[in-house]
Amino acid sequence: MPYAYLNPEFDGHELEAVFFNKKVNKSAIIAIHRKIQGRTIGGFRIYPYPTFHAARTDVLRLSAGMTRKAVMANLPVGGAKGVLIANPDCDKNEALYQFIAECINALGGQYVTAEDAGFHYPDAFEVAKYTRHIAGLANNIDEMPFPDLSNISDLTSQMTALGVFEGIRVCLRRVFGCNSCEGRSFAVQGLGKTGYPIARFIHQAGGRLVIADIDQEKTKRASAEFGGSCSVVSIEEIFASHVDVFVPCSLGGITIAEAQYRIVAGSANNALLSMEDGDALHQKGILYAPDYIINSGGLRKVYFETLNGGYNHGALLHTIFEEIPKALETIFDHSEKKNLPAHRTAEKIYQEKLAALN
Ligand code: NAD
Repeated sequence: MPYAYLNPEFDGHELEAVFFNKKVNKSAIIAIHRKIQGRTIGGFRIYPYPTFHAARTDVLRLSAGMTRKAVMANLPVGGAKGVLIANPDCDKNEALYQFIAECINALGGQYVTAEDAGFHYPDAFEVAKYTRHIAGLANNIDEMPFPDLSNISDLTSQMTALGVFEGIRVCLRRVFGCNSCEGRSFAVQGLGKTGYPIARFIHQAGGRLVIADIDQEKTKRASAEFGGSCSVVSIEEIFASHVDVFVPCSLGGITIAEAQYRIVAGSANNALLSMEDGDALHQKGILYAPDYIINSGGLRKVYFETLNGGYNHGALLHTIFEEIPKALETIFDHSEKKNLPAHRTAEKIYQEKLAALN
């Protein structure tokens, strides 16, 4: 049996490349899931994976998710991802940025990278000194919904957050008959580049927040800003929150057993670890917004940057406001009609769209 098949997340990926750099003593993996029109886009994640196997599992899942995201957003580009086994809080330096660029350059332009968890706008800016195969650099503060968050959240992530918020409103309407956040409660897990702006959208729309993050500076900042309509809980307690909506915005893999919400909808890639987890949510009557549809705002933005005509913010906003809600409505309509859980409906439509491309 080929080695690749030994990891259950292997999905016929076109290429996996493993890199090691002696100078920084770090390893990275880039996985290309599918090339469409000869190219792929997908972020680069920096995370202190406990084992190489864990990193490989993550990159295989994330890259397959990127193809799903692009195909469902009708973007003519395939999915890929990079992961670097390192601590994003203390391992970053010039040599590390050079190493990341070397990995990307080794693929000769088939893979265009962007930000992800642990790899933020200032990092992308540093890596861009050594590679041109990087997007996410268009970061005009005036175009941000929340310019004052520019020290913790870039334009790409705020576009992801905007799409997630619009998607949450679709879910609220499906479940409660009204898309208002007033009087509703939301558990936001992770207050990073996407989670913080999502929490602020919810707060501004009148929602009550329960928040958790491993970084206490972030929960302190959020608690000070959102005041009495926000409570902070531990990263374990957040799963058992009695809220209307669970909003996963960290590294995915939500704990289903404790789920007692009506909706799960957030920015996290791989929010579900398995199709069976999605079935369990469905059986509990919880509406799940497929991650690769609701969180596609950032990919849409990065894709717009790579177009010949250059970045057009107005056109991007149009696709976020129009296409993300429409895509979710389509999935939920089909799901209801066929009594097939939303995540399985999304997978079925993705497979059909992918087959039509081949
Ligand atoms: P980030 O690194 O900026 O934020 C992640 C946050 O989660 C951090 O504040 C971190 O401290 C916190 N965290 C980590 N483990 C946690 C835990 N166990 N419990 C609670 N909090 C925890 O990353 P991000 O860019 O906001 O990405 C978050 C998720 O959204 C990731 O899954 C990413 O792949 C996905 N995503 C991001 C974008 C984007 O535009 N940035 C686009 C699509 C999807």
